[in-house]
Amino acid sequence: MYIEKGSQWNAAELETAAHEHLISPAEEMAKLGTSGGRPMFASADGVYIWDNRGHKLLDGPGGMWCTQVGYNSKPIADAISAQALRLCYNSPWYSLSGPAAELSKRISDFAPGDLNHVFFTTGGSSAVDSALRFVQFYNNVLGRPTKKAIICRIDGYHGSTHLTAACSGRAGNRPNFDLALENVSFISAPNVFRRPKGMTEAQFLDHLIAGFEERVNTLGPDNVGAFLAEPLLASGGILIPPKGYHARILEICRKHDILYISDEVVTGFGRCGHWFASEEVFDIVPDIITFAKGVTSGYVPLGGFVISDKVLSRVSGENAKGSYYTNGYTYSGHPVSCAAALANIEVFERDNILEHVRDIAPYFQEKLQELKTLPLVGDVRGTGLLGCVECVTNPEDTEASEFDKQVALRVDRYCYEGGLIVRPIGSMCVLSPALIITKEQIDEMVRILRDSIVKVQDELK
Ligand code: PLP
Repeated sequence: MYIEKGSQWNAAELETAAHEHLISPAEEMAKLGTSGGRPMFASADGVYIWDNRGHKLLDGPGGMWCTQVGYNSKPIADAISAQALRLCYNSPWYSLSGPAAELSKRISDFAPGDLNHVFFTTGGSSAVDSALRFVQFYNNVLGRPTKKAIICRIDGYHGSTHLTAACSGRAGNRPNFDLALENVSFISAPNVFRRPKGMTEAQFLDHLIAGFEERVNTLGPDNVGAFLAEPLLASGGILIPPKGYHARILEICRKHDILYISDEVVTGFGRCGHWFASEEVFDIVPDIITFAKGVTSGYVPLGGFVISDKVLSRVSGENAKGSYYTNGYTYSGHPVSCAAALANIEVFERDNILEHVRDIAPYFQEKLQELKTLPLVGDVRGTGLLGCVECVTNPEDTEASEFDKQVALRVDRYCYEGGLIVRPIGSMCVLSPALIITKEQIDEMVRILRDSIVKVQDELK
């Protein structure tokens, strides 16, 4: 279903407006005034997008890991419209709304353990930022003002606010920004593919855990407030830690009263076949889970965190000591966003989306694994409907070479021509399609990706 126009202007006029006036995230400043290679999208349906020239594309990254139920869902669009007409806004500073109340209950019901209070924000960055601000607040109220360090991982990604950018360990996002690094401490990424040569996976796990424990001891447990981690490092290239990693780290956190924040902005809302992945896939019940993206399938912005009753009760009620958790946004728990999220959850339930992901994910992973026979492919990894195909020109390299850091872009260009969007991250092609994807569409996606990798291989001959 290609809808040609969403504007009174034609494609060329829109492109000119963007070139002359629009600043995009990750803008290569030397290319400001060009599109920097970015296409302009016009319409979408299910797992497909049409660009403004009418070119049809299978959306491999699912927007940006967010279009869970696919594009053009009428129930979500209708819920947005109905709520906008009923009550388009209420101030969360002095009032409540029905959709926010209902959604907080739904999320509490499917969060693990005693995580049963929800704080809403406007997206993933503000969700993680708010969770980190809660850690500061918590330790100050508890009379432990030194317990402030946040331990996070190289190659992790947590957002674009001042604090979450500081906690994001991806080198490319850092130059020329003054990051709020004062209380941030990085440990290495659980990158099994690039682990030190000669180390088994079990030894690598011990090495990672020892690294975390050593960092806690070096900083001093009384100075460490939280461990912040994605269950798997998504933007880092779908880095899945060795089994047992999270549980062992959580054990150390518990020993030292360090809060464990599981950043499920990507893994939440069905991506791994469950509402949240922390417990069902990674065997932990953290203290706080952050979410965004899939909560509305990307239809409107929303994020938040869900927090453990035990943790919250230490600084509320009788223990509140007159404190106010003053951290909020004009659009916290926006009624239209919450109505969209409730409709999204209804679509999940109506169409058995979690079951569908659990059924189809093994096929998706199997098809991606078939690409491993290509000479340019160094590693294929994934879980649920998250996958990464990493290209390497020299298998002996323990780090991506300068050439390899550009290779996924080359693959992406051929994919685009062939009708597929992939997310190129350095040497890695990352895929996280809408959760409604079918086997035939997976075949189409993997076929175009294979053909594109082969074309890049041929160029290297
Ligand atoms: N946390 C994780 C794990 C993410 O992947 C992202 C974004 O991709 C964020 C937080 C930030 O979310 P947002 O872009 O909605 O602010």
